[in-house]
Amino acid sequence: MPAIEKPPAFQRDKPLFSSGTGDGQAIVIFVLGGPGAGKGTQCANLVRDYGFKHLSAGDLLREEQDRPGSQYGDMIKTYIKDGQIVPMEVTIQLLENAMTSTIKENGNRKFLIDGFPRKMDQALAFEEKVVPSKFTLFFDCPEETMRERLLNRGKTSGRADDNEESIKKRFRVFVEQSKPVVDHFASKGRVLAVDAKASPSEVYKAVQTGFSERGIDPEKKAEESV
Ligand code: UDP
Ligand code: MG
Repeated sequence: MPAIEKPPAFQRDKPLFSSGTGDGQAIVIFVLGGPGAGKGTQCANLVRDYGFKHLSAGDLLREEQDRPGSQYGDMIKTYIKDGQIVPMEVTIQLLENAMTSTIKENGNRKFLIDGFPRKMDQALAFEEKVVPSKFTLFFDCPEETMRERLLNRGKTSGRADDNEESIKKRFRVFVEQSKPVVDHFASKGRVLAVDAKASPSEVYKAVQTGFSERGIDPEKKAEESV
């Protein structure tokens, strides 16, 4: 990836894609919610039933962190451990690269972008440089529930930030920086909010209802279409 100051996405004055599934287009749904709200779990359901490609900003950053020769590895590691938000130039370019290569590989232009935008400047820059989002799917979950889930996950996840101290910082960053993004989109009527306290299958039902209200339907499986 080129120097952090001005990766290719930031040299453009209009988005790379417009919203849609044709040539030069892409569909993006932002998936937000506090750490441990269940974004990854529900994205897996949506991938299975709706044919989206799931892009987790955190996973892409961890991959870049571990990529031999990455000039950003050490920086990413420090930010993640501390629960802070990596400078958006890096994250946005990683997302754009992942979108472009998915389209090239299999023509899929439907993306769930999980755990991004975590900060207002990222939201604006992504919609300006890459593609305007269709809407934001927001998993609304009390902190206590998220904390329990994260500590549980921490027993096996091997993640450097699934521990008491990092979790505290991640909650604070969520409330101070990421929640305002959700509120901004909500004020424009661009958020599908789902209560995320319930069991995964109940939460998924609510997600499906919301998607159907927005005209997004599951893909027919081969065995169902005959
Ligand atoms: N992160 C970031 N920018 C992003 C997404 C993630 O800097 O757009 C970093 C941030 O340090 C965050 C960490 O990656 O705390 C883990 O993010 P992930 O989405 O994997 O965590 P989750 O919310 O799923 O628990
Ligand atoms: Mg996640």
